[in-house]
Amino acid sequence: MNPKFIFVAGGVMSGVGKGVSCASIGKILQSKGYKVTAIKIDPYINVDAGTMNPTEHGEVFVTDDGDETDQDIGNYERFLDQDILSTNYMTTGRVYLSVIQRERNLEYGGKCVEVVPHVPEEVINRIKKATELAKADFTIVEIGGTVGEYQNILFLEAVRLMRTKIPDDVIVILVSYFPIPSKIGEMKTKPTQYAVRTLNSAGIFPDFILCRADVPLDEVRKEKLATFCNIPKENAISAPDIDTIYEVPLNFEKEKLGDKILEKFCLKPKGKDMKDWRELVEKIKKTKEKVNIGIVGKYFATGDFTLADSYISVIEAIKHASWANDRQPVLCWINSEEFEKDPNKLSELKKYDGIIVPGGFGSRGVEGKISAIKYCRENNIPYFGLCYGMQLATIEFARNVAGLANANTPEVDEKTPYPVVHTMADQVSKIKEKKMGGTMRLGAYPCVLAKDSVSFKAYGQKEISERHRHRYEFNNEYRKLLEEKGLRIAGTSPDNKLVEIIEVPNHKFFVGTQFHPEFKSRPLKPHPLFREFIKAAIS
Ligand code: GLN
Repeated sequence: MNPKFIFVAGGVMSGVGKGVSCASIGKILQSKGYKVTAIKIDPYINVDAGTMNPTEHGEVFVTDDGDETDQDIGNYERFLDQDILSTNYMTTGRVYLSVIQRERNLEYGGKCVEVVPHVPEEVINRIKKATELAKADFTIVEIGGTVGEYQNILFLEAVRLMRTKIPDDVIVILVSYFPIPSKIGEMKTKPTQYAVRTLNSAGIFPDFILCRADVPLDEVRKEKLATFCNIPKENAISAPDIDTIYEVPLNFEKEKLGDKILEKFCLKPKGKDMKDWRELVEKIKKTKEKVNIGIVGKYFATGDFTLADSYISVIEAIKHASWANDRQPVLCWINSEEFEKDPNKLSELKKYDGIIVPGGFGSRGVEGKISAIKYCRENNIPYFGLCYGMQLATIEFARNVAGLANANTPEVDEKTPYPVVHTMADQVSKIKEKKMGGTMRLGAYPCVLAKDSVSFKAYGQKEISERHRHRYEFNNEYRKLLEEKGLRIAGTSPDNKLVEIIEVPNHKFFVGTQFHPEFKSRPLKPHPLFREFIKAAIS
């Protein structure tokens, strides 16, 4: 069969769950026996998400092959249980960069290189390449942003061109939002009607509308969409708010979305189902007993609102591990700067069963995080440090156990007398020359675990592979001293040159990883370290 392409665009507003919708459609088609991959297109100029502040953009999700991508790639990996590669992520910046490079290399054979068709053509080539690499039957392509925005027009143009060339192999789905204004009390379809008109004016007619709303759509609303938006009534699919995103595929299936999509392509289901997934969702819904986890970070605030998007993979990893331990996680965001203003607040950490310090950059809030880590170490509160959380745990141990006053990382204090964390050798010139885009230590690296460690027991194997994103590292000059003072080096690179995991022994759980284990946790395969952390938290 020819590969099929499902384009997903968003209407009315952002943040209505396009990524989860794409991942869920993928999950359904996968469960019907097809090979699926998913692509994210982001309309911004940044070549990747790595140069953006997480409060601007949300989490930077790192792939095995070292790309700094959008958090939706994480959704695809978690739902499809599949590693997604760099080829499956593009931005306006990335697309233009290749077109311009190609022009500089005379690869357009003397032609005038124009925005149309050359930019959409580059987009199409990338979609085809990713499809080939994944050997996919279905490629789901999520177009970031909302229709009507100036900056995704060229991507919609790519959709139009593909649809014109291979009409039998392309469908378009609009994920739209249906408000129920509280003073009116009725669900409104007009914003979606406008979104569909806007798509129409780009030459695109959606085949399905996924209707995001507080509640399912009634027949009256579905009729309206059929009348005003050129879709058969049964192709308006309800997508009401639900408690867990993992239920979305099951909800779509209630309206037979999978079979309807297959029918559009004249295909049949190949007789599989979502048994494991269904069981997981049932388990999630019936798990009541709680485990309280505090996340000490700083990327929470956006204006007057709190948004946890910056740590989405950490949150999902905690959920997977908690469910595997028959617990419902209760997460609390703790702004580390509060501990700097008022150290008495540290005693509030006692309320939690476990504390995580996730990845981070720069000096803001760092001293607050270090005090929180000290409190966990001294009070036997399970602690899990991820990347910066491992570096800061090293600094805390150096200062308060090994007596190295003012130990620090050059990221915070260039003149520290004890740089127990220091700049990685290959990063020195990059930082000096401000070559900061896509130049960190990125992607999957192997790690060898120490036999007597908590980590080795958790993984149950000696060699592991995990994903990284950092410029600084544990300084080996202090390795011997810190080990003598009781710090355990639980994991290193195979050549023993880079420290990848530290542990404090004789503690309920005190583990810091230079890598980001959260990127590899999947709903049905919780990450071993998160699983053991939660187990310790419960105990
Ligand atoms: N800022 C630290 C570094 O660059 C940690 C990075 C992170 O937590 N991802 O090494």
